[in-house]
Amino acid sequence: MKDCLFCKISAKKIPANIIYEDSEAVAFIDINPQAPVHILIVPKKHISTSLDITEKDNALIGHLFRLAAKIAKEKGISERGFRLVMNTNADAGQTVFHIHLHLLGGRHMHWPPG
Ligand code: 5GP
Ligand code: ZN
Repeated sequence: MKDCLFCKISAKKIPANIIYEDSEAVAFIDINPQAPVHILIVPKKHISTSLDITEKDNALIGHLFRLAAKIAKEKGISERGFRLVMNTNADAGQTVFHIHLHLLGGRHMHWPPG
């Protein structure tokens, strides 16, 4: 989608520190990390928010979660634990309207989140 930051990153029109890519998704390091490990897992397909996910996306969403688990294992944070977050709309603080899973780890996470 034109003028979407994460569409541009996944199309390599804007640089990012991409650590994984396949035909369906990219994963790259968050520019403003909130934990020692903070990676964004992003489908190449433009979907604005979690509210816009349809049944057709079931396999894609499963792929994002499995990819997050694979990266967590590779980064050595799977046993201690990590957090997967998908912010939706204003109250959750969503700023980029192309869905992404935040993979956060490498430190203790507080609950409830702020
Ligand atoms: P949201 O607030 O929508 O849940 O998350 C957006 C995330 O994207 C934020 O954590 C923010 O730091 C990150 N971000 C915003 N712009 C860029 C960018 O140009 N490059 C990278 N790598 N991350 C970005
Ligand atoms: Zn997009």
